[in-house]
Amino acid sequence: MKIITLEEHYSDQRIMDANRAFQGERPKMTPEQEEAMKFLMSRAFPGPELLDFDARLQYMDENRIDMQVLSFTTPVTDAVPAQDAVRICRQANDITKQHMEEHPDRFAGFASLPMADPKAAAEELERCVKDLGFVGTMLAGRQKGRFFNEAEFLPVFEKAAGLHVPVYFHPALIPMDVQQSNYMSDAYSYIVGSEFASAGYGWHSEVGIQIVRMILSGIFDRLPELNFICGHWGETIPCFLDRMDAILDQSITGLQKTISEYYREHVYITPSGILSTDQLEYIVKRMGADHVLYAVDYPYLKPDNVYEFLTESSLTQEEIELIAHKNAERLLNL
Ligand code: CA
Repeated sequence: MKIITLEEHYSDQRIMDANRAFQGERPKMTPEQEEAMKFLMSRAFPGPELLDFDARLQYMDENRIDMQVLSFTTPVTDAVPAQDAVRICRQANDITKQHMEEHPDRFAGFASLPMADPKAAAEELERCVKDLGFVGTMLAGRQKGRFFNEAEFLPVFEKAAGLHVPVYFHPALIPMDVQQSNYMSDAYSYIVGSEFASAGYGWHSEVGIQIVRMILSGIFDRLPELNFICGHWGETIPCFLDRMDAILDQSITGLQKTISEYYREHVYITPSGILSTDQLEYIVKRMGADHVLYAVDYPYLKPDNVYEFLTESSLTQEEIELIAHKNAERLLNL
């Protein structure tokens, strides 16, 4: 059985160097913040494995992964001015394309987009899909604190809908004021608060909110061809859809459909390497097996039961094949 995974990150020294030039423009951190950041990076950042394609291919072979959809790990940041973000994203996408060319049946690509300049981002998405053969884009977090449902970002979503490629929403560090008010406390350490605000919960919750904001903004009434991908089993939203339908009903949203109808129609869910059988069964029941895709989050996570997790699950062979590769082939036009 073929396996295609969709949230697989890599990096490249040239892009890391290009980004480093702008580090001085980031807001200054307190010593406590710096210490927490160092700790988080040492625990979570896989460093050399992001760069090592031999190790990557070996991991894929060992786990019977036929194809990874590559994404650059946070290629541009808030700190990079728009014109430089455009240049760095183009370079990152060209490097992704080189990896695809070296191993055409092992790698596909999600575009990195300079969201600081949404018009340029839409153009870059078109270049990536039409000229480089990419299969969609991955957006991280927010842009300078702004969620992507705001009007200035519409050109990117119009372009994705027009090109029939999905947008994968990935977490990133959340704004400092939200971190401070929602996650930090005198009752536990700064490091605990920082983990709570990021991979422990906070940045996942932000991605869930991001997608609901897109729905509430009427994006799918405007662009019925548009599709999203959401990792980490839906970033907390699937279990809350009933409540949202009841409270955020059409009499107040003025939308053509209920929130859960948009969600089930336009959102595709991946595990992002959280290989929990309970979650798999729940999400297949909630979303239908035709809206579940596979993702490992390599090299941040490297589970060694990628194949067995699906084949030894309680799902039917047909459902397993959909999740392992058929849905990806359809959605990504592979
Ligand atoms: Ca990831």
